Order: sequence, then C-alpha cells, then structure tokens
Amino acid sequence: MSNIVDEVLAANKSYVQGFGKKGDLALPPARGFAILTCMDARLDPAKYAGLAEGDAHVIRNAGGRATDDAIRSLVISHKLLGTKEWFVIHHTNCGMELFSDEVIADLLEDDLATALFDGKKWSNPHHQGGHAAGHFIKWHTIKNQETSVEQDVRRIREHPLVPANVPIHGYVYDVKTGRLNEVKAATEAGKAAA
Ligand SMILES: [Zn+2]
Repeated sequence: MSNIVDEVLAANKSYVQGFGKKGDLALPPARGFAILTCMDARLDPAKYAGLAEGDAHVIRNAGGRATDDAIRSLVISHKLLGTKEWFVIHHTNCGMELFSDEVIADLLEDDLATALFDGKKWSNPHHQGGHAAGHFIKWHTIKNQETSVEQDVRRIREHPLVPANVPIHGYVYDVKTGRLNEVKAATEAGKAAA
C-alpha cells in the first residue's frame, strides 16, 4: 500500500496551520490573468510565474493544449471572473512529443497498464484487457513546441466566444533553466484588437 494519502493529509495539516487570512480571499483572481499550461510535474506555475493563492487562474492538461475544455475554462475565466489577459505556456521535453495518436491508441487496445519507454519506443509489459476506445480520442500530441503554442494561441484567438480585447501571450518554459521564452509568432497572433 502506498503512503500517498497519509503524506498528502500530513502536508495539508501543516498548510492549514499557516493558512492565515487566505479564507478572506475573493473568488475572482486578484491579478486578472489566466495561464493555460501542461500538467507536467516539473512545472509549478505558482513558482515560475510568481503566483500566490487568489492571484490567477491556472488551467492545466496534458500538453497545455487549447482543447474545447480548456477554452471552456478560459471563457468562464474572462466572462464571469474578469481575467483580462491570458498565457499559453508549453514546455521543452514535453511527454506529448513522445507519442502519436496511433501509438497510444494501439498501446491501450493491447493493455491498460503503464507502458514502458526505452527512449525511442513504447511497449506494454503485458498484453491483456486493453480496449479500442483510444482510437476514438484526439490526444492533442505535440511535434514542435513553438508550433503547438502558436496553434493554440490562434485557436483561442479565433474562437467565437473569446473577445478580441483579451491579449493571449505564447511562451515555452525551459525545463532545464526554468526560463519562459516567448514564442513571438504566437504572441503576435494573440494580440488584442485595439
Ligand atoms: Zn508537457
């Protein structure tokens, strides 16, 4: 059995002890912006972008992609909670570059257990109980980070529910240095209309 639940609850206990006045925070993000980024465990938007509780919305999924659901959150973020500026932040060495839709669907069809990666190819440790449902999912994999950031900024910019006055900035986070590097073509595409 894992101790994960115990560890999480112990950490939460000490968090509660230092919670202070955070119970008084307003619901809308105080600094008025939102970040769409990858779920990668090495990325901590609160740290890399200097956020405290109550500051900003952070929307995360595999790749930080502008999926329908990410756009749903961004639209709520602006329309109901007042954010005025958005960031799309992908990163170097993203796991989403390591497979294609066909690869993950084939792996899942063969077996649901965690696959192995040898640096080049994925394989299943055993072969039972898989399902073909993965062939019906668009996995939003990434071939090139700068391209994916630009695609996603463009998709958000052109969405009919996104107002033209919300600027969308595109960046790639470098997992080796922690630095945010701007994708100029993305930020250009995401510029707000005057
Ligand atoms: Zn990633």
